[in-house]
Amino acid sequence: MFDEITSNIKAGFTTVHGGVSCGSYQSANLGFHVGDYSERVACNRRRLEDYIGMPLVWMEQVHGSHIHSIGGCDPVELAVDEYGFLTVGKADGIFLEPEAVPATGLALAVMVADCVPVLIADRQEERIAAVHMGRRGMERRILAKALKMFLDRGSRVENIDVRFGPHICARCYEVSQDVYRSSIPEAQCDTRWGTRGIDMTAGGVAQAHQLGINSILVDSECTYENDLYFSHRVASKRGEQTGRFAGVISFEPHDTPTKY
Ligand SMILES: [Zn+2]
Repeated sequence: MFDEITSNIKAGFTTVHGGVSCGSYQSANLGFHVGDYSERVACNRRRLEDYIGMPLVWMEQVHGSHIHSIGGCDPVELAVDEYGFLTVGKADGIFLEPEAVPATGLALAVMVADCVPVLIADRQEERIAAVHMGRRGMERRILAKALKMFLDRGSRVENIDVRFGPHICARCYEVSQDVYRSSIPEAQCDTRWGTRGIDMTAGGVAQAHQLGINSILVDSECTYENDLYFSHRVASKRGEQTGRFAGVISFEPHDTPTKY
């Protein structure tokens, strides 16, 4: 499930499987905000932490374009939420400087159910980030903003690796005429039904390319078509709520020398 980007950085995406939630949240729902029993969500999050072997940092996603930084200049204070999980509070991106990572390691999580979970790593300097890119975040250029944070701190374009996780594909993401017209040109497309659609991947890839970043891996699995992932759209059509899966990127510090 998790790929090695460097020997210290791993990235991957969860699925609906492996948790304890029931009904439309079956079974690995990671979102507290979607109406599931909180003790089940907490159990699912603990299982994920156990699997990756280190604490996870979450964010309260608001479809904005704010990115909190852990470490570096202007760092955010990490808080513990009411369920005992680390959080940066309201944000749609988390950025992590390697010197801010405790000996236990630290991982960043972005929750989605149709939006694009984006995981970014600088293979050389070992900075990492997790970004929530829905349609609105894409239109507000959240990915460009995240990538500029890497470049501003000294990352080189050729060392930056960008991964887009499972999300609703361009052929399935139907929108109204108004939403289509007000979106950015790179993202405007037609759906499988010949109606107006939005291609979040194309919008995001354009932002990376404009900055000269070309190492982009796009997961082509569509959340709308594949029941391995939670889909807000599929659930809404049934009049149900649904769970959230996550994109996770982790950093494990290099071995520190033993002190005698
Ligand atoms: Zn699709």
